[in-house]
Amino acid sequence: MPLGEFELIDRYFKRPARRAALGVGDDCALLRVKPGMSLAISSDMLVEGRHFLSTVRPERLGHKALAVNLSDLAACGARPLAFTLALSLPSADPDFLADFATGLFRLADEHDCELIGGDTTAGPLNICITVFGEVPVGAALLRSGALPGDDLYVSGQPGHARIALEVFRGTLQADGEVFETARMAMEMPTPRVELGLALRGIATSAVDVSDGLIGDLGHILESSAVGATLDVDALPESALLTQLPPSLRRQFALAGGDDYELLFTARRGDRQAVVDAAWAAQTPVTRIGVIQASEGLRLVDGRGCPERDIYARFDHFKT
Ligand code: ADP
Ligand code: MG
Repeated sequence: MPLGEFELIDRYFKRPARRAALGVGDDCALLRVKPGMSLAISSDMLVEGRHFLSTVRPERLGHKALAVNLSDLAACGARPLAFTLALSLPSADPDFLADFATGLFRLADEHDCELIGGDTTAGPLNICITVFGEVPVGAALLRSGALPGDDLYVSGQPGHARIALEVFRGTLQADGEVFETARMAMEMPTPRVELGLALRGIATSAVDVSDGLIGDLGHILESSAVGATLDVDALPESALLTQLPPSLRRQFALAGGDDYELLFTARRGDRQAVVDAAWAAQTPVTRIGVIQASEGLRLVDGRGCPERDIYARFDHFKT
C-alpha cells in the first residue's frame, strides 16, 4: 500500500506540540508571542539540481534545509522557536522520508526549534521551510546599522563549500579527507545561532553569507549607506584552502557561496566584546576589514596595496 498524504505526515512529521500552543494537525498552528519580543520570520526554498544534488544523502538534506533557515535567524540575533515545512515529493519513499526526518529533527532538537505545520504535495523534489524566532524588541541585528570606523568580521571559514561544489562539477580534484571536510561544509552547514545571540548589543550590523562574502557584504554596505576596505590577506586561512592556488583560494573565500557564516560589523571599542562573544559561542571569528564613509568596496592586501582581481557574487539567474 502506498503511503497516503496524511499517513505520511503523521508517521514522519507529526510530533506532540511542546512550546507551541497548537502544532501539526489543525488548519493553523498557534504560537504564543511573549510581551516585549518581536517574531523573526524567514523562508528559504531548496530546489533539487539548484541548491542540492540528487546524490546527497536524505539525512543531510533534512539538516541543510533547516540549517539555511536557522542561519537567517542567526543573522538577526533571533532565538529559534518553530518552523513549518512545505514539501513537494516525487514519491512517498519511506527510506527517503525516514532519513530526511532524522537529519531534520536532529538539528531542530539541537536548537529546540519545533515543527508546527506545513504542506505536503506530489511534484518535483522541493523543500521550503519557514522559521520563526524571537528577539527582544529593538535588539534585532540588521543590515542597516554599520557605521564608518566599525570593524568588519566574518565567522568560520568561508570557501569550503565551494571546494566541494567544484569537485562535484569536475573542475577541481581533492583527495579523500580534504573532499570529505569540504563536502560536510556544503551538505551539513552549521548555522551560527549561538554567535548571533552573543552578538546582540555588540554587532552594529549583520548578514549571513549565502551568496558569497563580497556579494552579501554588498547588502550591508548598501543598507547602511557606507563603504568598506577589506584586507584579503586577513581572510581566515584553513588547511583546506591553503591547498589551493592563491587566486582560487581568494575566489572561493570571497565569492564561493553556500557558506552560512555570519558577516558583521562592530565598533572599534568593542573588539574585546567581540572576542568574548566568539568565545562564548565557541565560534571562530576573524577581523577582515573596516567600514568607511566613502561608498564602494576596496580590496587591499596585507600591505594596503589595492587588489585588482574582480570577484563576482553568486546570482541564481546569472550563474
Ligand atoms: P490544510 O489543507 O488545512 O492546509 P493539510 O491537510 O494540508 O491542511 O495538512 C494537515 C496538517 O498537517 C496541517 O496542520 C499542516 O500544517 C500539517 N502538515 C502538512 N504537511 C506537513 C509537513 N510536511 N510537515 C509538518 N506538518 C505538515
Ligand atoms: Mg494543505
